[in-house]
Amino acid sequence: MALTLGIFNVYTALTDIGLNLSETVITVASSPSPIRDSIAKQLKQAKSNVFDTAVEHTHIANVRAELHSAVHSLVARNSLVTIYLSASDLINAIPTLYALIGDRVPIVIHAAVSDPAHIGDAYAIRQTGAVLLASNNAKEAHSVGLVAHAIALKEQLPVVHLYDSGAAAREAQHIHTVDFKQGPLFDELKRSLDAYKTADAVDKVAGELKSTLYIKPSPQSSINYEQISTSIRESFGSSQSSLFDYSGSPDATDIFIALGTNSSSLTHSLNSLVNHGRKVALVRVRAYRPWSDEDFLAAIPSSAKLIAVLDAAHSLSTTWGPLFLDVAASFHSGKFNGAEVPAVREARIHVPAEGYTSALLESVVEKASTDIDEAFTVGTPLAYTNGIHNGEVDSFENTVEGPYLKMLNQLFAQRASVANVSNESSVLESDRSATPDANAEYGFGKLIVQVQQRARFADSVAEILKSSAAEGSLSAPLQTELGAWLQNRDNAEKSRKHGDAAVALLEKEDSEALAAIFKDRALFAKPSRWIVGGDQLSYDVGNSGVHHVISSKEDINILVLDTQPYSEKISTARADKRKKDLGLYAMQYGGVYVASVAVNASYAQVVRAFMEADAYPGPSVVLAYAPHISKTGRGVSVPLAMLKETKVAVDSGYWPLYRWNPSNEAAGKEPFSLDSDKVKREILEFLDRENHLAYLLSSKPNIASQITASAETELKSAIEGKVQSSYAQLLSSLNAQPLLVLYGSDGGNAEAVAKRLGAEAKQRGLRPRVMAADSFSVEDLPTERNVVFVVSTAGQGEFPGNSKETWKALVSASEDLNFGETRFSVFALGDRNYWPLPGDKHYFAKSGKDLDHRLEVLGAERLTPLGVGDDQDPDGYWTGFNAWRPLLWKGLGVDEMDVSVEPILPSDDAIKESSNYLRGTIAEGLKDTSTGALAELDTKLSKFHGIYQQDDRDTRDERARQGFEPAYSFMVRCRIPGGVVTPEQWLAVDQIADKWANGTIKITTRQTFQYHGIIKRGLKASIQDMNRALMDTIAACGDVNRNVLCNPNEHSSTVNAAVLKLARDWSEHMLPHTNAYHEIWLDKKLVATTQEETEPLYGKTYLPRKFKCAIAVPPHNDVDVFANDLGYIAIIEKGEIVGYNVSVGGGMGMTHGNKKTYPRLGSVLGFVTPDQAIDIGEKIVLVQRDFGDRTNRKHARLKYTIDDRGIEWFKAEVEKRLGWTIPPARPFKFISNGDRFGWVQESNGEWAFTMFIQNGRVRDAPGRQEKTALKLLSDLLVQERAGEFRLTANQHLVVARIPPQLKPKIEAFLRKHELHSEHHSGLRLNSMACVALPTCGLAMAESERYLPLLITKLDSILDDEGLRSDAISIRMTGCPNGCARPQIAEIGFVGKAPGTYNLYLGGGFEGERLSKLYKESVGEEDILKLLKPLFKQWAIERITGEHFGDWVIRAGIVKATREGKDFHD
Ligand code: SF4
Repeated sequence: MALTLGIFNVYTALTDIGLNLSETVITVASSPSPIRDSIAKQLKQAKSNVFDTAVEHTHIANVRAELHSAVHSLVARNSLVTIYLSASDLINAIPTLYALIGDRVPIVIHAAVSDPAHIGDAYAIRQTGAVLLASNNAKEAHSVGLVAHAIALKEQLPVVHLYDSGAAAREAQHIHTVDFKQGPLFDELKRSLDAYKTADAVDKVAGELKSTLYIKPSPQSSINYEQISTSIRESFGSSQSSLFDYSGSPDATDIFIALGTNSSSLTHSLNSLVNHGRKVALVRVRAYRPWSDEDFLAAIPSSAKLIAVLDAAHSLSTTWGPLFLDVAASFHSGKFNGAEVPAVREARIHVPAEGYTSALLESVVEKASTDIDEAFTVGTPLAYTNGIHNGEVDSFENTVEGPYLKMLNQLFAQRASVANVSNESSVLESDRSATPDANAEYGFGKLIVQVQQRARFADSVAEILKSSAAEGSLSAPLQTELGAWLQNRDNAEKSRKHGDAAVALLEKEDSEALAAIFKDRALFAKPSRWIVGGDQLSYDVGNSGVHHVISSKEDINILVLDTQPYSEKISTARADKRKKDLGLYAMQYGGVYVASVAVNASYAQVVRAFMEADAYPGPSVVLAYAPHISKTGRGVSVPLAMLKETKVAVDSGYWPLYRWNPSNEAAGKEPFSLDSDKVKREILEFLDRENHLAYLLSSKPNIASQITASAETELKSAIEGKVQSSYAQLLSSLNAQPLLVLYGSDGGNAEAVAKRLGAEAKQRGLRPRVMAADSFSVEDLPTERNVVFVVSTAGQGEFPGNSKETWKALVSASEDLNFGETRFSVFALGDRNYWPLPGDKHYFAKSGKDLDHRLEVLGAERLTPLGVGDDQDPDGYWTGFNAWRPLLWKGLGVDEMDVSVEPILPSDDAIKESSNYLRGTIAEGLKDTSTGALAELDTKLSKFHGIYQQDDRDTRDERARQGFEPAYSFMVRCRIPGGVVTPEQWLAVDQIADKWANGTIKITTRQTFQYHGIIKRGLKASIQDMNRALMDTIAACGDVNRNVLCNPNEHSSTVNAAVLKLARDWSEHMLPHTNAYHEIWLDKKLVATTQEETEPLYGKTYLPRKFKCAIAVPPHNDVDVFANDLGYIAIIEKGEIVGYNVSVGGGMGMTHGNKKTYPRLGSVLGFVTPDQAIDIGEKIVLVQRDFGDRTNRKHARLKYTIDDRGIEWFKAEVEKRLGWTIPPARPFKFISNGDRFGWVQESNGEWAFTMFIQNGRVRDAPGRQEKTALKLLSDLLVQERAGEFRLTANQHLVVARIPPQLKPKIEAFLRKHELHSEHHSGLRLNSMACVALPTCGLAMAESERYLPLLITKLDSILDDEGLRSDAISIRMTGCPNGCARPQIAEIGFVGKAPGTYNLYLGGGFEGERLSKLYKESVGEEDILKLLKPLFKQWAIERITGEHFGDWVIRAGIVKATREGKDFHD
């Protein structure tokens, strides 16, 4: 790009850009005067910008009072605006910024940072959604400033550019700058400008910004911030370090992080240290918002041991500096690839007048290395008097209310009148000890006196004006000012302005009446009156100061601090002492401004709420979350614990951030705004269901349409009536008797029983919470009145994984735990025939029995005798459950209630049989908006339609604690036999992922797509979108033939076509015949016919279990053919397929602790010709249909049918149905079960490229836009009318059928978008992980989210041994179901509990041998310790070409597994 040379200082640099890229520039009183001078000078020389349009200059005196309206009128006519102000004014620009972001206005604000202490003001806007960039000197100001304008125009968003206006920046420099006045950059700016100018003008409402949200996702949520990071990166140039600037020693151990302004002295001091050999470096943050974890981490060298985040002391009012939190979060984002996370510390610096010095930096490193706290202060404090009542606020720094008080002071300065803050102790301490001068009622009394005083003062002024009108006793100017004051006395700005003017005139008067006014002149300015109180205010609204305040209708604000930590609320909440919902109460009262805020969650929202409360002419109640933490867990500091408490409270919807502003009603806007950072569906549900606030709000538009002036009172009472009934419902639900149901469940049965109990308890008027036992702290059990345990039995009478900790804690529980108040009941599950030896019988239901006994010993009161559910009973464990549960309801005194109890779930076959061919009540359930779930029976049937109901496991326990239903969503899986899709279909898949699912695409181990996170109301529409793209989801799950796998890229195109055809034919052949799918999802009714609907192959009960099929073409076993119930192995002679060897009985699933379940590889049955292939497959299915075990789903796969009865029996049964004898199998050889990455040419000359997709998850992330790249690739292929995609069974992707002439273009595209895989290790290229957490309901541990991190650690060990490029298959699953086939990997992990896996070794690299358990229940540390010496030994001992899996057997590390039945030996 062309460069031009110029002489600039920071001001001329910024005006050069601003005046050339704007139509209006606004300066404010705080704009540095050199800026104003420079603007005036430049405008004198040229009055038009680079686009040849005129530039205007507007100057305003007061940001808070005038900025909004100044910007309104300009934006309404799509004017291009640039604002110059000082960083200290940013806080006052927050309301304007919110509105500009909501309306996507490309405005640039250049904010001068003259003093590091003003950085705190810049931090205040970090959560508004504006882009925030920072520069350090004139040169940078020019380039970053230019990027600011380019990004604003391109993304149509406000961009705030913080620049250093310190002494160094004022010096003129010769600077080479990018030429933006012509050439490509100009063209791009012009294009963006044209797009903005032609944008829908309706969106920029004439003369008014649409700034109020009404229970809808905030506009920010639709902004793609990852895209913006990319744009910024591109604007700076391609280097990743452009967002973060690294300087200093390349292999630094100690790294300072600072926002990119005011760091000239910092850079200088750092260089001096580096010159003295110190391994230090500085990372300056150029792009602060959006924050890119990837870019930040990329800027940190692997040598880093210590990270010190530098912030100016006194610039912050929060316990943690925002920059520190961003930095810490990056290291814990899961994107950090280093071996060890460096220590991250925050240093609050009292920067001396001369700036940073080397000595200061040295002392930071020293303190950071020795101090154990995350934050510390360095330097000598400067005099600081910016506190409430002249600095007292500093004394509150260590109190929970400190940050809020400090903010009140910052915002309202001299106007702040906090009535009950008058001494150095915590307001809340005083609150608790009822010190008279600090409690809320005292404050109220004091403020009322002030209100009355000022009202009397206004009366006197009115009186004087009245008599002057008659007598002409006042000068005209004084009369005007006093009159204007009287009219505007409740307006903070205007009352001060006219008051000041009146005082100046009054000084010259000598009348007695005017002297009295002059004496009370302090009353001219409108004060911001506040009372601060704690928890007690909300315990008894009626008797506390709150009621007085809101019923007074006076302009008094009350700040109520909720100090009880979220976790404490959960464990100690009692129905008889519950807080009333103060916010709801105040809203119900009417005429009260209400806000709910949390400084640790959103600083900007607190600012906005405070400013609105202050401006509201009546009473305001601001509820502020300030958890008081006295003790923390190991390794967690108090501030961090506070932060976590706040995050979980806000994220879970427990403490939603909102504002209710009655003033908006008058302006025709919605009064309610939901501000929570991530507006989650569950928060809406919270408001919807629990609070009933949405009921009130959604009722308003209807009522509002009936508004007439005379009906106003009616309206008010109508609303109040609705709120009152909602409030009554809320209170009654809180008064219900609590019941805690804890389960210990491995296979899901105990969990199902527990949930059933929970549902029934709710119907009986109880308030149940259902959760895994280990999610609840045993220490808190004594505070629960009623506790029920439902526990299954694992292994030899052991507790299931999610209840082990509970049992341990109960066994070691001390006498101090008093269970005297707790009533309990236990229901134990087991299988009395599970242990064949008579001596082992006592293991039956042992865990439940032990638990029952232990609780009795601990002194808990028994509600019922122990209940026992036995798998062997006629209705399985439900038999025992039916006998026990009436006793439980009786014990709880709710047995007489008339409730409609859902019948106990029938067996799976009974469900299928009575489902009317898979219809059930799915269609009806989709219409039910009262729940995000389908009926339990329907969830079994929906699987046959490719749909799994799931819920977000990350939030499950929190929601259960709150009594919310889980965050349900659906996984939808496509049916794509052979995994081949066109580029057009890929585009549809991409769009569906964005529109209906979580924005990612999962390529599964069964060569298909899975979408996650589709919610119920989007389910049907998403399937219809798939149908439009000629894809369906029929039989992708369920007890039927599933998606068929086939080799994705055999070199011979004829072979490839033949196997793909077999895959498609077989899939078609085995499709269910029912029309249910078309009726439910596509609204297609069956054409009337006299014939009854049938399932000729499956029958009404379909198959006993799922059935999987794969087709392999030797020597590649890339479909893991032996892991399937049915496998076809192509036998090729002279380039043609002459037939298939058929294998049967493969399957991976097993259950931990149940040796009767095991993985098994398929047995080769014989050889068939191509035209016999479908016939033999069908007969195999029929034998399994008729002989598979339908009594026990854990024993229902074909593998058990074959092992129980013998392969010869099975073959005979198949032959009986075929009517011919199966010939013997032909020889074949496999060499690997992995994919072949890179280009291959097929026999017809076309090319195919296999690319690596980590665990099949296609997504965009900062620094890696894989999803976008594949979308662009599809666009390209559509344009070229060439190519197809093939999904591989190893979760990767092939772009195939590329004509030779197109290959160079595709190759260039793949390179540009980094879709090549050469840089990955052999281990990573052969890795696979299932989805597991957070969506899979069966997951016991992480898989997809964790394996990549583990591989990074293993890679570094392999690097050391020189094994980086050696292929080793490594696979992980979150449970023993084995979706990613870990049991045939050379290294396999199967999840047992969070962070704990069983480690298997010795699977065959070619997929022909199962692995063997090497170590049970290992965590990461053990894994690394165990594998390191093995890698080392393999590197030394291996014979040429010997795979790791073969070597561990030869070396005797594990025994070879010969067949499924000896897997556990
Ligand atoms: S292996 Fe288990 S945890 Fe992983 S996706 Fe399959 S069922 Fe879920």
